[in-house]
Amino acid sequence: MVTGTVTPSASQLVPSPGQSLATLTFDADQWAILSPPRVDTRLVAHAVARFLRDFGLPPDGPVEFRAVQMDDPLLGLAVLHASAAGTVVYCRRDYLGAEVARGLTAFARSSTEILLAASGPGRPPRTRFAVTDHAEWTRHSLPEPWPHPVMARIARDDDEPVTTVHACSCQMSPQLADVLTLLGCTRLRHMHAQRASRAATPAAGA
Ligand SMILES: [Zn+2]
Repeated sequence: MVTGTVTPSASQLVPSPGQSLATLTFDADQWAILSPPRVDTRLVAHAVARFLRDFGLPPDGPVEFRAVQMDDPLLGLAVLHASAAGTVVYCRRDYLGAEVARGLTAFARSSTEILLAASGPGRPPRTRFAVTDHAEWTRHSLPEPWPHPVMARIARDDDEPVTTVHACSCQMSPQLADVLTLLGCTRLRHMHAQRASRAATPAAGA
């Protein structure tokens, strides 16, 4: 469980164009990644701890997306919560449709392993979330009221595996897509580095 007394052992705000990134490391091998408004890191850490207390540890499994109520503006639009066993990405309900959340979960589960296996040393895979305008989507896709699916493809870009996920603008906001791109790339870099360090120390954990 996330403890009530949050003392992030490593927390940082890394500015990037228009976005901040906070990585909060909790005890017992669990951490959170989010893109909060630019405010005091300790306030963000407390907000995240309060929020995650309602949910507990992520369930076992590669990754799960959930559209949930997020009242505290300090949380930004999404909070990625990871432990050794699993990862959950909580997204603001008014920025992500429940149906797309299920689609993202299914796709991430099948693609994460492929991405990691296809990436070479020092070249972590990347992920990109893109929003297609609703009118554009319905013109080229299935007629309404058919639910708009999530479409995704994996390709190589500059010799790095990249997955691009397309969602409809009535299901995902462009702002959330930007945040998910940032969080997804950060998480993949982390997983890629973990694998490299495990490969370098095969005796560890044996
Ligand atoms: Zn739509």
